[in-house]
Amino acid sequence: MTKIMIIGAGGVGNVVVQKCAQQSSVFSDIILASRTEEKCKKIAESVKEKTGVEIRTAQVNADNVAELAALLKKENPFMVINVALPYQDLTIMDACLEAGVHYMDTANYEPLDTAKFEYKWQWEYQDKFEKAGLTALLGSGFDPGATNVFTAYLKKHYFDEIHELDIIDVNGGNHGYPFATNFNPEINIREVTAECRHWEDGKFVTTPAMSKKADFTCPDGVGTFSIYRMYHEELESLAVHFPNLKRAQFWMSFSENYLKHLEVLGNVGMTGIEPVLYNGQEIVPIQFLAKLLPDPSTLGPRTKGKTCIGSVVRGLKDGKEKIMYCYQICDHEACYAEVKSQAISYTTGVPAMIGAKMMVEGKWLKPGVFNIEQFDPDPFMDDMNSYGLPWKIVELEEFDLD
Ligand code: NDP
Repeated sequence: MTKIMIIGAGGVGNVVVQKCAQQSSVFSDIILASRTEEKCKKIAESVKEKTGVEIRTAQVNADNVAELAALLKKENPFMVINVALPYQDLTIMDACLEAGVHYMDTANYEPLDTAKFEYKWQWEYQDKFEKAGLTALLGSGFDPGATNVFTAYLKKHYFDEIHELDIIDVNGGNHGYPFATNFNPEINIREVTAECRHWEDGKFVTTPAMSKKADFTCPDGVGTFSIYRMYHEELESLAVHFPNLKRAQFWMSFSENYLKHLEVLGNVGMTGIEPVLYNGQEIVPIQFLAKLLPDPSTLGPRTKGKTCIGSVVRGLKDGKEKIMYCYQICDHEACYAEVKSQAISYTTGVPAMIGAKMMVEGKWLKPGVFNIEQFDPDPFMDDMNSYGLPWKIVELEEFDLD
């Protein structure tokens, strides 16, 4: 019987709550806390309707360590699943340490005033979590998350050494809006407008954003898409935990339409993160833009098509080179039918539930701060098949995105 607290009542929070409520023998008592309690209550109503499970809600400002620690001490959950924004990671980790609660998230810390996400700040909590006998599991979404586990699973079962990694994230879905983002607009735009960095020969190499493009044909008839190389946070931890990697790259699909809108918005200053003074009030352009864009949690009923996200690994087995591809295909409309969400929130929320399940079941529980690829991938991969994200592995004859 395990009590958990989920923080953040957005698109991803909705899926995590729904999926945890479906596993009531693992998560017996669920509290959803967020800055706007009204949003928690709406999710709670929908969970009750779908699963018959009652979840409790609370209002909390997770930027305030004392306020959150007080709520955690009052409720005394086994763990927190953090699906608020990356800005809250450190304050939530501090509150967990103060209250003696395990921690898990899906995105690494990013300071509000600098668009630069890095594991450095969270890795610095290693000693504190170890001394407190608590686990912090970092990056249990899809990417980071499932893609790291795919890489670890391929390494464990198919290779002696892995040398090249390409993570490919294709969203073949269409929501019908001229421009919208599939998860929090501010975080999404900060991510895709950042300079590209990829791992090559022992260091990160920087290139301009969106400067490298390739065509990729997804398996199982999902289609052919233009993908662009960009920086993604899992490259940082995978380069550390798989030191034989000579090259690691991350690719994401974007439509011409999305990129054109982004270019224009960037050119006119709407993606800026520095405050500007307007009529005596400070406004951060990207935050104002996020307010104007469709809320990602409302895209579900409009989105059709599939996602295809996976890891291609090249390496050696018994002295021979081989290339293996592990991927997962998810249908936007099927996700909506199950949990009233599009597939981006779904593919993030399901691995978050599974990561928490690994911790609750004691399979992934040891004191310290860990990235997801540091644990045994097998039970997580089994659960992906059981809880809505079935995957496949194929051997590729050739693979070249250059
Ligand atoms: P949303 O913006 O939809 O939801 C974020 C939620 O967090 C909102 O309910 C918001 O409350 C709440 N929140 C924000 N600040 C605070 C605070 N100070 N205290 C308490 N609650 C707060 O985002 P998403 O659901 O799209 O994304 C959630 C997380 O998932 C993000 O960190 C994102 O980076 C990550 N993610 C990870 C992916 C992966 O594959 N690893 C993929 C997609 C997302 P309010 O409504 O009041 O603003």
